[in-house]
Amino acid sequence: MIGVVVLGSTGSVGENTLDVLARHPDRFRLVAIGANRNVAKLAEQIRRWRPAYAALADETAARELTEMLGAAPQTRILAGESSLVEIAALPEADCVMAAIVGGAGLRSTLAAARAGKRLLLANKESLVMAGPLLIEAVRSAGAVLLPIDSEHNAIFQCLPPNARVGSAPPGVRRVLLTASGGPFRDWTREALETATPEAACAHPNWVMGRKISVDSATLMNKVSSSSRPACSSAASGADRSCRSSAEHRALGRGVLDGSVLAQLGSPDMRTPIAHALAWPSESPPV
Ligand code: NDP
Repeated sequence: MIGVVVLGSTGSVGENTLDVLARHPDRFRLVAIGANRNVAKLAEQIRRWRPAYAALADETAARELTEMLGAAPQTRILAGESSLVEIAALPEADCVMAAIVGGAGLRSTLAAARAGKRLLLANKESLVMAGPLLIEAVRSAGAVLLPIDSEHNAIFQCLPPNARVGSAPPGVRRVLLTASGGPFRDWTREALETATPEAACAHPNWVMGRKISVDSATLMNKVSSSSRPACSSAASGADRSCRSSAEHRALGRGVLDGSVLAQLGSPDMRTPIAHALAWPSESPPV
């Protein structure tokens, strides 16, 4: 049984992770969950999963959660930003899903790396902000860094087996990232002047959290994905268009012999999540 901690369990990636775990109770055991202040959803997850620990960054929300749950002796409720760091390094956890959005995810992501965990990294912002620090922490603690972001996971699946974090993968000339164009693909420049956050979040292919949806609509997400620390030292981003996103995660590995390897799939985050949870074994069905 692989012990799993899910940081950001109330978010889109977090819930998809729990969905994959729920389909494979014989392989995975949920040890702890953590979020910011969504008391109602965390309470629901605690009742369903009975994890040993649940952490909320917001201390007022954590008190509210404790009151709401009454006696739930199987789950210890922890409060404050440091509680996320604490659950990221629990000895009973083999695997940590880092799915807290934005800069708030950095400390707990680093903690999981320093504790030598198998780190499932959805929070690519950590790499963009502190790539060298994170890679060094992974290296020195002997942690394993596995990419969850769909582009990075697709690249990872196309890389040769002897590729290592932080070094140029042998035989790879360039990495191609594809883009669907998102909700604004066919909008005129004039129409874009009146775009709303709701329109930005209505991605035609992906159901995601609001921040990454907006980042996808503005293509800022591609900038993060192709940033040098995030995309490995071999990557030189060159976008290709694929409206359906079937090829969104199809990344060419422009290998030196001239061939291109691609990973194709439906736009469903459970695919990269299941792949990384099971790696190096075969992905479980989702
Ligand atoms: P959501 O907005 O859906 O969820 C964000 C999660 O982070 C929630 O659990 C939220 O808790 C928690 N959180 C927010 N602020 C804090 C804080 N200050 N302290 C602790 N926890 C906090 O985001 P997504 O699931 O969409 O994205 C998560 C990460 O995965 C991001 O880094 C994103 O770039 C990346 N990603 C997402 C993809 C997707 O399909 N959604 C695809 C690829 C990458 P609460 O609910 O309590 O506020």
